[in-house]
Amino acid sequence: MKLEVIHHKHDVIVVGAGIAGLYAALKTSGEVDTAVLSKIYPTRSHSGAAQGGCAASLGNMMEDHWEWHLYDTVRGSDFLGDQDAQELLVRDAAPVIYEMEHLGVPFDRTPAGRIAQRPFGGHFGNFGKSEMMRSCYAADRSGHAQLHCLYEQCLKNEVRFYDEFFAVSLVMKDGSCRGVVAWDIRNGGLHVFHAKAVMIASGGYARCWKITSNAMANTGDGLALVMRQNLPLEDMEFVQFHPTGLWREGILVSEAARGEGGYLVNDKGERFMERYAKAKMELAPRDVVSRAEQSEINEGRGIGGQDAIHLDLRHLGREKILHLLPQVRELALKFIGRDMITEPIPIQPTAHYSMGGIPTDLDTRVLSGTGKESVPGLYASGECACVSVHGANRLGTNSTLECAVFGRRGGLKMLDFVRGLERHGELPEDAAGPARAQIEGLLATAGRKGVRPVELRETMQKSMTDNVAVYRTAEGLQKQVAICAELRAKFREVSLDDGGAYANTELIEALELGHMLDYAYVIARCALGRTECRGAHWRTDHPGRNDQEWLKHTLAWLEGDAIRIDYKPVVITRHQPEERKY
Ligand SMILES: Cc1cc2nc3c(=O)[nH]c(=O)nc-3n(C[C@H](O)[C@H](O)[C@H](O)COP(=O)(O)OP(=O)(O)OC[C@H]3O[C@@H](n4cnc5c(N)ncnc54)[C@H](O)[C@@H]3O)c2cc1C
Repeated sequence: MKLEVIHHKHDVIVVGAGIAGLYAALKTSGEVDTAVLSKIYPTRSHSGAAQGGCAASLGNMMEDHWEWHLYDTVRGSDFLGDQDAQELLVRDAAPVIYEMEHLGVPFDRTPAGRIAQRPFGGHFGNFGKSEMMRSCYAADRSGHAQLHCLYEQCLKNEVRFYDEFFAVSLVMKDGSCRGVVAWDIRNGGLHVFHAKAVMIASGGYARCWKITSNAMANTGDGLALVMRQNLPLEDMEFVQFHPTGLWREGILVSEAARGEGGYLVNDKGERFMERYAKAKMELAPRDVVSRAEQSEINEGRGIGGQDAIHLDLRHLGREKILHLLPQVRELALKFIGRDMITEPIPIQPTAHYSMGGIPTDLDTRVLSGTGKESVPGLYASGECACVSVHGANRLGTNSTLECAVFGRRGGLKMLDFVRGLERHGELPEDAAGPARAQIEGLLATAGRKGVRPVELRETMQKSMTDNVAVYRTAEGLQKQVAICAELRAKFREVSLDDGGAYANTELIEALELGHMLDYAYVIARCALGRTECRGAHWRTDHPGRNDQEWLKHTLAWLEGDAIRIDYKPVVITRHQPEERKY
């Protein structure tokens, strides 16, 4: 089959319609011609699953300051976050929350009519000394409220949406980005989107694990597109395991459940967090709580001897649960048949959030190496990006905040850039060539004997859950590097059942699998390289944080079958590394 190519031209193309992508598009639209590509309908983006809230030191419930929020974010990141970016995040938080409020996000309210705020893990008052209520929320559907509001505002601003278009490759010429090539999932067909600026906002990518809280679409496509242009990814070894995924399902029970007062209990009925974080208990940062749970499980105190812990909310009472946690109650009822009003629910750590990603500077420009040099015309923001506000471990509700602050900022920066360009840069000859070769190649395998994508995907997901977990060892990681290398080789022999162009979901799954195998390989390799414990990366064979050797960011390039690693320093401004106790 020879695929036809259709051409489009816009000033700005945003790949991704989550909070980050939509906020960027909102800022450029109205001023310059803006289009958003999304492989799923925009309001199905994973941002809509964010439950707990969005952090900002509004001080509506108790005294709060951005300096306190900064301190918590720096410590939460185990000192690997870049403090200039972290400062920008927390200083912009309040104005961005108010902007969202004025755009129409229906945040919950205090009796006095202000935006209500709730406690979340790792957020404290007075430099770690007291309790804090900092997360702005809309029941436990906070991301849903933000996403829908931004989508409506983008529609009002006449952003052009290309729904169910799958970005397959970047268009580059003379070292700058000139557009994107995408596949029309519904109708089939290749589309070249010629642009002055492109933003990748393709979201998180924990779908390469079996037990994960992430949506089906979180397959890291944007990372693979960037990596295939010989550009690096940053800090890929740092993946957060959320302490409360529904047992064996991985589906998230928001930290708001513990924020509102939920207990974690082992098989003996003990609130075991006492032994791991005496002061902060269940509200210690996620890396600390997940490790505590895993230790209880490994030492035989999991519920019924299984790999589960109980989350007990019964003491909160029916009314509070129904008012503040309606969605998580419903999820537990539907997926594991347990009602948290009357019984504890079994949970386990679940692969949840990716701290690493596409390296950017403070203005969301994609960086090409260890220095400050960026790729003209290419931007990234949201969970796929690594401006490094989360370092080695993210605090709850700092992520939707990052998407809003840096999506918005990226939009404004792209606007400046695009206004300075008189015309679009020239496209390379046959801009769609690499994408066409990839897709025609896959479609041509239809009906052949050979390995199917689903088999490789299941092996990858299971082995990542086994080997790149809460606790890591050289042995497990070496094994995983080898498994990924083997799966990547097998992927070259993959064949499909469906060779058609229309709504070919098997083709999309194959493309996604190719992406996942590339970055899963990089995650395993980077985790093997970092021989210390920091934040979410815990090497039982290398105890302790090692600032002397490892206070640095990892950069990784995928070069054929090899991975090249380099490092760059962490930006430290206000807070010097110190011991982290909770
Ligand atoms: C269950 C859950 C609960 C969470 N709760 C919270 C919370 O309470 N507070 C908080 O701060 N954070 C929370 N997080 C994290 C936070 O929600 C995410 O980090 C954030 O929403 C990511 O937003 P994003 O804009 O980067 O991407 P997403 O919202 O994931 O959107 C990605 C977009 O990229 C598009 N895309 C991807 N690949 C392609 C492609 N190849 N072609 C075209 N389009 C593509 C998708 O269609 C989608 O529109 C939670 C995460 C999960 C999974």
